[in-house]
Parts: sequence; C-alpha cells; structure tokens
Amino acid sequence: MGIDWCKIYDTGRCKVPERLLFSGGSWRTIFCHALTVALRHPRHGIVLFDTGVAPRIEEVTAHWPNRMYRSVVQFDCRPEMSLVRQLQGDGVAPGDVSLIVFSHVHADHVGGLLDFPNAEIVLSQDALSFARKMRGLKAVMNAYLPELMPADLNARSRAVACGDTSLSYFNSFDLFGDGTVRLVDLPGHAPGHIGMLTSAGEKRYFFVADACWHSRTVTHGELPHRATGLIVYDWKVMESTICRIRKFLASQPEHNLVPSHCPLATEKYLVGGRGDVRQVV
Ligand SMILES: [Zn+2]
Repeated sequence: MGIDWCKIYDTGRCKVPERLLFSGGSWRTIFCHALTVALRHPRHGIVLFDTGVAPRIEEVTAHWPNRMYRSVVQFDCRPEMSLVRQLQGDGVAPGDVSLIVFSHVHADHVGGLLDFPNAEIVLSQDALSFARKMRGLKAVMNAYLPELMPADLNARSRAVACGDTSLSYFNSFDLFGDGTVRLVDLPGHAPGHIGMLTSAGEKRYFFVADACWHSRTVTHGELPHRATGLIVYDWKVMESTICRIRKFLASQPEHNLVPSHCPLATEKYLVGGRGDVRQVV
C-alpha cells in the first residue's frame, strides 16, 4: 500500500543574498521559498509536512519584540499563497487535514498552523519542549513566534521519537507503521529538527526541511555562510547531518532532495511559477 498522492506547495518567498545559503554563491539577491508538502494516506487522510508562511506572520511581528523577526527575514506571503487557500483550490478543506508533521517550530514552518484547527500535531519531543518553554525576546531570537501556535497545543500534540535504527545513516520513525511515511532525525538546524521520507508512485522524496537551505550544500558540499551560524542551533551537528544526507542519497539516488527554502528544488518541483504546483502523482 502506498500514499494516494503527494503535492508540494510554495507558500511565500523572501530575498536573501545567495552567498548566505551556500558558500559558492554570489552576493546577488535571490528568492528563498517556503515549501510545504501535502499528501493523502489511504487510511489516515490528508497529512501535511509543515505549514509554511502565512499572512498572520505580518500581524504578529507588528510589535516589539516580534518586530525583530521582521527586521531579519521578511517573507512575501500574500493570502493567495497561504497553504490553506491553495489546498482549498485543490478541493481540500481545512477540516480535512487530519495530521500535521512539523520539521521544527521556526515561524516560517508553523505560520499556517492556526488555519487547521482539527489536525493532530506531530513533532519531536525536543521541538515540542522548545515550543512550550520559549517566550518573549528569547523566542524571537530563536526564530520562534509563540503567537503562531494554538492555545490547545498540548492537547493536540504528539511527540514522536526517531528511535528506529533500521535505516542507514539516520534514526527514524515509521509514522503509520506501514512504511509509507518515515520521519527522520536530522539534528543541528533547530532543536528536534526532523525530515520526511515518502514516495508517491515511482517518485521517492526526501524532504529535509532546513537541514540545508540550498540543494548545493548536499550535492556540492557548499555549506551556508558562517554568518548564519548565529541562527543555527548546533553547527557541527548540522554539518554531520548534511554529510549523512549526502551518503544516504549516494546509496539511494532514486530519492529527490527537497530542502524547504531551496530555489533549485522550487524550480524543479513546481511548474509554471509560484502557486502553480505539479502533482507528484
Ligand atoms: Zn528553520
């Protein structure tokens, strides 16, 4: 049994110097995206991997201290780009979403969460603990905006542990116990950062979220600019994770690498520009 379909959505973009994303880049400004994934499992229904950015990020960053977030990163996240609107365009109502997996709780990954009030929230224990305790200035300094989280976060959340060692290079967790969706421990970028392996038809995907920001970091060994170390939770661990992703893809090259912010992945998996997405299957 496999998943019915899997689709990648771009929820917004921001301008950044290319050099920040990977060491071989120039200082010209390029667009960084905010990709998310929706899939339909035959028994568990609509499942999301992250919810990207959403217009409410503008609202919650209007005042101090959250305004600091806007001064560092400002996404163009118009309403029509929001995941909830794009899903509705594809016939998926907010109430149809049964489960959302979060790679981590940075604002540009949880921005759309409040649009899906019925969904169970799945994330790592470290990410959940981080979300529960971070508040105020310290939260913003860690790219987390608590106002994006629902009041019933605790009741709706399920922390999962990637304790399965059967996969080469990574500890993982078989989300539905049927091998269709495997969550993968990808530490370094943020507390409890995880990725997702899944396949739709012949296509296999490795959604690595922010384990790297640009595909070239994995394919060409070009790490992000050292200045970004300020926002990376553990640089050394991140490097180790990138190395293991490279080895994994060398051993299983049929997987397509999809970092959440990568312009190359956006160009490759979204056809016809922003908001016009290609159905994987
Ligand atoms: Zn992040």
